[in-house]
Amino acid sequence: MAVVLAVPSPLLKIRGCLRGWLGWLGSQSPPWAPALAVQGPASLLEPMGEKAESDETPSFLDNVFWMAVPKSRRTIEVNRCRRRNPRNLIKIKRNIDVCPQCGNVKLKHVLCGYCYQKVKLETTAIRSQIRTQEGGPFRAPTTETVVLYEGEKPKEQDEGKRIIERNRKRPSWFTLD
Ligand code: ZN
Repeated sequence: MAVVLAVPSPLLKIRGCLRGWLGWLGSQSPPWAPALAVQGPASLLEPMGEKAESDETPSFLDNVFWMAVPKSRRTIEVNRCRRRNPRNLIKIKRNIDVCPQCGNVKLKHVLCGYCYQKVKLETTAIRSQIRTQEGGPFRAPTTETVVLYEGEKPKEQDEGKRIIERNRKRPSWFTLD
């Protein structure tokens, strides 16, 4: 059922005065709208005389879908049971562990992000040093690479391998094996 409301407001008097004043000035007054209008079928907005014409050519507003509205109020108990249902609450994570290397909190089944970042930075530094030493990636020898840190000397088994010497102390996590 469509409802059309037109609430009188104190602005109506001002509008009447304005309209008269504008008419007195000789200019055309703009179309005036009601203070409050509720959307509904266009046939109800038209006068009775023009209703027959509107039935022949149905307006777009005649096909408005009216939304369903709740018929009764839900109690606070029902609402709270729905909102605080266990399936809507945040799940507790039990797969969190402490990294044995750095002590940061990490998930049990994934690598530690902090340790990974350290290794990534050191690997990038080694790669850039290789690039500056050899002048490009296409001049790399087809031998194994050995990274030596400060205070380390190549062993007998490292002869003939590509040796990269770093001018810093060996990190604790960078094992020799
Ligand atoms: Zn770690």
